[in-house]
Amino acid sequence: MELSDFPQDIRSNIIPKTSGQYEYHCLKCQKIWDIDRLLYTCPSCGSVLMIEDQQSDRLKQLPGKLWHKIFNYRKLLNIQGLKGIFRYHEFLGAVLPLDALVYLGEAHTPMIEANKVLQDKMGICFYYKNDGQNPSASFKDRGMACALSYINYLIRSGKLSEVLAICASTGDTSAAAALYGAYLAPHIKTAVLLPHKKVTPQQLSQPLGSGAKVFEIPGVFDDCMKVVEALADQYHVALLNSKNAWRILGQESYSYEIAQDFDYKLESVAIVVPIGNAGNITAVMNGFIKFFNAGVITHLPRIIGVQSHHADPVFQYYAEKDLQKRQYKAVTVKPSVAQAAMIGNPVSMPRVIDRVNLYNEISGKENVFVVQVTEQQIMDYQILANQNGHIVCTHGGECLAGLIQALDHKIIDNNYHAVLDSTAHALKFTGFQDQYFQNNFSPEFGIVPKKELQNYPVLISPKNIPAPTPGKQLSPEKFQQFLEQTSAEIASCLQLKKRQL
Ligand SMILES: *Cc1c(COP(=O)(O)O)cnc(C)c1O
Ligand SMILES: [Zn+2]
Repeated sequence: MELSDFPQDIRSNIIPKTSGQYEYHCLKCQKIWDIDRLLYTCPSCGSVLMIEDQQSDRLKQLPGKLWHKIFNYRKLLNIQGLKGIFRYHEFLGAVLPLDALVYLGEAHTPMIEANKVLQDKMGICFYYKNDGQNPSASFKDRGMACALSYINYLIRSGKLSEVLAICASTGDTSAAAALYGAYLAPHIKTAVLLPHKKVTPQQLSQPLGSGAKVFEIPGVFDDCMKVVEALADQYHVALLNSKNAWRILGQESYSYEIAQDFDYKLESVAIVVPIGNAGNITAVMNGFIKFFNAGVITHLPRIIGVQSHHADPVFQYYAEKDLQKRQYKAVTVKPSVAQAAMIGNPVSMPRVIDRVNLYNEISGKENVFVVQVTEQQIMDYQILANQNGHIVCTHGGECLAGLIQALDHKIIDNNYHAVLDSTAHALKFTGFQDQYFQNNFSPEFGIVPKKELQNYPVLISPKNIPAPTPGKQLSPEKFQQFLEQTSAEIASCLQLKKRQL
């Protein structure tokens, strides 16, 4: 839609201008650092950083109603850079000029209401937000669009040249980094480090396909992360892990979209997200806090983080209810089907602790919870969801299992509307589905498939007739026999009744 077609009262706001004053804030020593250089940790104390807008009070000057109108109408604007996460430019990229914004189709993911069968079974109204429908098929594209737009801005303004972008990954971060890095060729080259045999073949194919340099490292993600950190400490590289605070900023768009999809009414809404390195839950909380502070929303939704019992450091931390005794401890992970969240020492833990406190404080009550689920439940619920019309990954299954836990523990009641994060597309994790269907999980997963959920292909091979092969036609009689035998066999399998002629 053209500018002159937008309502008068939002015309001056519909195309955002650069504004605000962004700074890195250290969560530990409270020092503030300039964003004109790439920083991942505080140069003073080594802790993780958050990006804060020193001028965020300006966002309160517009009434909430007007923000709603701006965001709703902005969807009609045909400017590439403003079609994805930067529809919310004032909240997550205000200092970036429009010509630096990178858009590859991210951040339009649908919220799909579960069918009646599933809602009745769970006893609550819920939706899946399909973040697997982002360009590299996971939510990681949201943060990557922001981090790469920032790097693009540094390159265009002459503050950086010849960037080597690097990350460690449980699969999806490297897919997203390689994709967005490739788009900014030749200025950016990407290298990714993956734990050998701990990412799925689909995930491995993604950075290879985008032309990134791919390194496979023995060990698990936590080990890869240490190697990448050592590289970032000693060499000129741009780190694209969620340690990079720009990633967190971009991922806040997830919350903004949900707010918009509920027409900004978030009373009795619960948000269920899996936790791995804990960047996503940090961003989700921070997004809602920013919308709340600016008056765009009037309620903070309930947040429920979910972890597998095989990788649960955040759950363990919050399981201790005595605040004096509460102490963070990294855990050693065991194999998990929620493989992208199989992390024992989440980089964003200090951010989680900080934001949970703030979120609860603003809410005036405990409003963030973490629940734990088993590997068995993750697989059972993923397959159940997909057999009811969803396309969720194992982490989506983890969220559904987490929803049950939240109801059982009375964290929410059935008056809530829950939004479950399917953080990636089902197709990235079909190997686990195969293992479920074929009952060949290795024992450490402890997964026993439920018969009624298993599924197999049935091979039909007619007897005594050669099979049709490409380039070699059967004789008409043989082909007739082939048709009769195969259709009879299928009909018998499906117990079809013969039509009365
Ligand atoms: C990265 C990832 C997670 C974990 O998110 P964190 O921000 O690391 O907590 C969960 N699911 C999928 C599919 C992912 O790619
Ligand atoms: Zn510090």
